[in-house]
Amino acid sequence: MSALPATNREWHLRERPVGWPKPEDFALVETEIGQPGPGQVLVRNVHLSVDPYMRGRMSAAKSYVAPFELGKVMQGGAVGEVVASEAEGIAVGDHVLHFFGWREFAVVDAEHAVKVDAQAAPLSTYLGVLGMPGLTAYAGLLRTGDFKEGDTVFVSGAAGAVGGQVGQIARLKGAARVIGSAGSDEKVKLLTEEYGFDAAFNYKAGPVHEQLKEAAPDGIDVYFDNVGGDHLEAAIARLNRDGRIVICGAISAYNSTEPPAGPRNLTRLIQTRGRIEGMLVGDHYDLQPQFVQEVGAWVRSGELKYRETFVEGIENTVDAFLGVLRGANTGKMVVTL
Ligand code: NDP
Repeated sequence: MSALPATNREWHLRERPVGWPKPEDFALVETEIGQPGPGQVLVRNVHLSVDPYMRGRMSAAKSYVAPFELGKVMQGGAVGEVVASEAEGIAVGDHVLHFFGWREFAVVDAEHAVKVDAQAAPLSTYLGVLGMPGLTAYAGLLRTGDFKEGDTVFVSGAAGAVGGQVGQIARLKGAARVIGSAGSDEKVKLLTEEYGFDAAFNYKAGPVHEQLKEAAPDGIDVYFDNVGGDHLEAAIARLNRDGRIVICGAISAYNSTEPPAGPRNLTRLIQTRGRIEGMLVGDHYDLQPQFVQEVGAWVRSGELKYRETFVEGIENTVDAFLGVLRGANTGKMVVTL
């Protein structure tokens, strides 16, 4: 314990953001480092996760998870090293995945800490390709999207943590065609040249509707929606008979102060007998062993590629979070302490 700093730093939510979050909505606060009680461990966080869904927890609106409390430390995924343990089965030096991010040190109940193997894979991957975003892609495409070999799949947010994996899982599982959209030419290049997408477009370079039509001349069978808005409407317009749309996220509206206009073409679902279904990763943890086995093997063999964007330092966590909302990341955004 002697090598530990005197204090912990942690991010508190000071005000509920209206529209785009501002730096003044957050405060970096110094606290004492806690001591683990019986059944607990003290973790020095190594990597913190910043994710788009956290924007929802900053607002007071009722959702599937409680809002962050004002004046209290925020939460999120993190991986770290155990520096003190009062828990059976977890030793000093072990690495654990847990949910007490946005801080340097966390006292965690052993039942809420999952041991991870730092030799088997880089620690950061447990927050991304082998973690929650990876399982979201896997379960959302295969279970909610009812993906079948020969399907044409379109995914938005395709150069992000979830989207990049959706497209590659579709390719590896025998999709006829994989199409992605992303917010820069560089990201588009990554999709086609590294991730093996058949077609990709920059949604900022022209109307999504027209670009999707060109990329998917025979329509699409599955649309994995990370962004909502005009992407969703364009996907409905291109949906084939018995097509499926997975609503995973709607990042284009996360900072809107007005509710977004609904898709104006929902009646196309009658023609196509199409289905739109929301998915929440928390409902699919029964797929975790299968996901880790299958995707872990693809990652090890290099068949599934992933990117990570690292931001250094606890003091830059808010910037990293805002960066995710702006598209500053390619692949998973991770804050390294
Ligand atoms: P990403 O790594 O994809 O990062 C977010 C990306 O969204 C940015 O990099 C940016 O890329 C893109 N983006 C930002 N604004 C817009 C916009 N207006 N229109 C289109 N794209 C935009 O994040 P994740 O992979 O972690 O999450 C992707 C989505 O999945 C989010 O909507 C998230 O909320 C959702 N999600 C849902 C879960 C569930 O259980 N339902 C679980 C996990 C995530 P670009 O440069 O391409 O614009």
